[in-house]
Amino acid sequence: MESILKMYIDGKWTASSSGEFRQVINPANGEVIAVVTEGTAEDVKKAVAAAKRAFYEDGWWDTPAVERARLLFKLADRLEEQAEEFAELEVKDNGKPYREATVDVADAVACFRYYAGLATKPHGQTYEVADPMQSVVVREPIGVCGQIIPWNYPLLMAAWKLAPALAAGNTVVFKPSEITPLSAIKLFEIIEEVGFPPGVANLVLGEGKTVGHEIAVNHDIDKVAFTGGTATGRSIMQAASGNLKKISLELGGKSPNIVFADADFETALDYALFAIFVNQGQVCSAGSRLLLEESIHDEFVEKLVERAKKIKVGPGNDPDTEMGPLISEAHMNKVLNYIKIGQEEGAKLVCGGKRITENGLEKGYFVEPTIFIDTKPDMRIVQEEIFGPVLVVQKFKDEAEAIRLANDTVYGLAGAVFTQDGAKAQRVVRKLRAGITWINTYHPTYNEAPWGGYKQSGIGRELGTFGYEEYTEVKQINTNL
Ligand code: NAD
Repeated sequence: MESILKMYIDGKWTASSSGEFRQVINPANGEVIAVVTEGTAEDVKKAVAAAKRAFYEDGWWDTPAVERARLLFKLADRLEEQAEEFAELEVKDNGKPYREATVDVADAVACFRYYAGLATKPHGQTYEVADPMQSVVVREPIGVCGQIIPWNYPLLMAAWKLAPALAAGNTVVFKPSEITPLSAIKLFEIIEEVGFPPGVANLVLGEGKTVGHEIAVNHDIDKVAFTGGTATGRSIMQAASGNLKKISLELGGKSPNIVFADADFETALDYALFAIFVNQGQVCSAGSRLLLEESIHDEFVEKLVERAKKIKVGPGNDPDTEMGPLISEAHMNKVLNYIKIGQEEGAKLVCGGKRITENGLEKGYFVEPTIFIDTKPDMRIVQEEIFGPVLVVQKFKDEAEAIRLANDTVYGLAGAVFTQDGAKAQRVVRKLRAGITWINTYHPTYNEAPWGGYKQSGIGRELGTFGYEEYTEVKQINTNL
């Protein structure tokens, strides 16, 4: 077991003033894998003071873009060199299968490289306005950015936050989830090693209601970028209003995956499983509602259940594992409770539904791949984000009903359509009220393309130039030529 008793504040590894510690648990067996220092609001204040000084006095925001790019490229190289260690850490800390963890690390490396490259590309605009004036628009960093992330993709979410903020010239106070802090701590060792100036990137550890809350309310933080649950996002938005911080929120989802009768059956089946069961269903964009056209419903469900029952559930470090444990005992109980609610509401459970306690899995937080059919749109299991391996199937008669059911949600993060009719595919995705859509595939995500949701799935976008611009202010400079 490792003891990590410090946070990275102002270029130094610093113990928390609290003197308290938190145990980090391996969800595959309930064992304590590390003890980390528990930060406080006071620690956040120290980090914010350092970030403010680094931004304004030490002049990080004025650092040439090429220098910021150099540091980010170096960070990406070092991360890539240690890819295996990072993947192993994610498996232990989060529980995900090793294969998936290696993809996360590669995606994180690519994200740092993408934003390192973007830092030096043109971002301004020139307008020819009324003669003899010229108006030039430049983008400048916002200042001190507070960043808070969840536990489902600990390293990748860190990359999505840190890379654009630092590339654009901001300084940051970053908080990983208290449940999965280990890869972020290791990432900050690289940040120190590659030579980011003190105060530019600060790591604070601790829980949401203390450390996270201070990030949201602190008046010296100019922007808060949050990824997590919609309820938390709402409270952060309120807390951030005191100094009218800029905010970006990446929140929950209940995304529809629509399969028409003319879809390629096997392709749709593969992706229906992948959409919900990857990362144990703990994915904001999970295809957690499967909408099936009436004529293929029964056959599709039959094959789906057959395949779901064969998914190999086990610890992430077993190379045969296809689905790992849920993140914690508390979260497992929340998911099991939703399964109970689904049964009480009258939905028909056709696959799974239980905690797995055989074959050495009894100490971990494993839940069977679970599928409900005969659901009604107003059921809680259809409307609420379960964030686990629980798929609800909905039946539709025609295109209009598919669209109506798909959009019958407070969320609007993602959605997919499976059909071999190209025109229908385009028609339907254009009508989905969601920020991320796929046709005949599910889940591919690109650093180049904006990520984020409509409705209560969030505010703003991550990734791509959109994600970079979220970390900039816009200034117009008008010149009398
Ligand atoms: P969560 O909202 O409980 O916690 C997320 C982070 O917020 C953690 O670091 C936590 O410590 C912190 N936090 C909690 N309460 C806070 C408060 N009052 N003030 C400030 N910070 C606070 O979410 P979670 O359980 O860690 O993650 C699951 C949720 O994240 C799901 O709803 C999922 O959909 C969402 N998510 C969204 C995206 C996306 O891109 N849209 C990506 C990943 C996860």
